[in-house]
Amino acid sequence: MRKSDGMISSKPKLAHCKGITLSGLYTKSKKWGEPVIMDCIMRSSIPSVPGNEQKALLDAARHACTQAYAPYSHFPVGAAVLDEHGHIHSGCNVENAAYPQGACAEAAALAAMVLAGGRQVRAVAVAGTGGQWITPCGGCRQRLREFGGPDTPIFTASPTEVGPIHTLAELLPHSFGPDHLPGTP
Ligand SMILES: [Zn+2]
Repeated sequence: MRKSDGMISSKPKLAHCKGITLSGLYTKSKKWGEPVIMDCIMRSSIPSVPGNEQKALLDAARHACTQAYAPYSHFPVGAAVLDEHGHIHSGCNVENAAYPQGACAEAAALAAMVLAGGRQVRAVAVAGTGGQWITPCGGCRQRLREFGGPDTPIFTASPTEVGPIHTLAELLPHSFGPDHLPGTP
């Protein structure tokens, strides 16, 4: 988990690139390895994830956030992933007195997904209460890369609001993944 730049606001707002002509600068792709920098205009929904699944995903991340074990940072985070079977798996951050041994919410959600048989991440939600939108930390972006695609949406959320929606390729451009290795699962 990581704190992002945007402060939580009840009013949707365009990102900093508002006013810039995006065509020609940004392209979209469903394949890794091609230009995948997406537009940075805040989107309220992703067509590939039906509204009911978005709501269930957000609810799961928010509930997971309430279960977080964060006695040191006091920064609870909940995450949820939607797999290829339509199942949702969630996790929360679990801190440790030996700080580096703490685990991120996204890692816990992915572990739950794998345990249940899921192997593809169709969507992700990350919820926090810290007053800023939370996006996955660098390590978790790579963990999500193992199971997600460049267009996999990552929803940010507070307990009551939905924040900016990013794609995995936006958060982890020019990435390395299973498709770079022979015998990709
Ligand atoms: Zn993380």
